[in-house]
Amino acid sequence: MSVIENMKIISGNFIDIENRMISKRIININDSGNIENIIPTEQVQDVYILPGFIDAHIHIESSMVTPYEFAKKALIHGTVATVSDPHEIANVCGIEGIRYMIDNARGAKLKIFWGAPSCVPATSFENAGAEIDADQVDLLLQSDDIWYLSEMMNYPGVLNGNEEVHKKRSNGHF
Ligand SMILES: [Zn+2]
Repeated sequence: MSVIENMKIISGNFIDIENRMISKRIININDSGNIENIIPTEQVQDVYILPGFIDAHIHIESSMVTPYEFAKKALIHGTVATVSDPHEIANVCGIEGIRYMIDNARGAKLKIFWGAPSCVPATSFENAGAEIDADQVDLLLQSDDIWYLSEMMNYPGVLNGNEEVHKKRSNGHF
């Protein structure tokens, strides 16, 4: 990348996802960080330019590192955002664990779209460290940090009309 008159310039093999083609391009980025224009060119370095990846389903705690550390590693491999259900830590430490994940990720460059865990514990056969009921899910969903009701693993509860499960679903505006 080079900088000319407050304009950042990136050049390389531009992967145009919508049109399913790769072409040699120069991308000019203004000082607000927005793409000013994309110009065809003949010669580029042997690099590829493409949109960042969005990991649509990951439980960050499975990585065994904090969200902040996870973000650093994900970014260098091209992932710029995740959709993350913190239900694993919630199964151990409940709401406090969810708050930890969210707070730890503050300041990370990765965009993490947190969900409210719907199934803590995952089943009634577990000896989990916490339980999150429909009222707590509702409170979580009122937070600016939480975007949606996370994966509903208790599909038997959905199909059999379990009242608590359906209360969580209605909280999530499904
Ligand atoms: Zn999952």
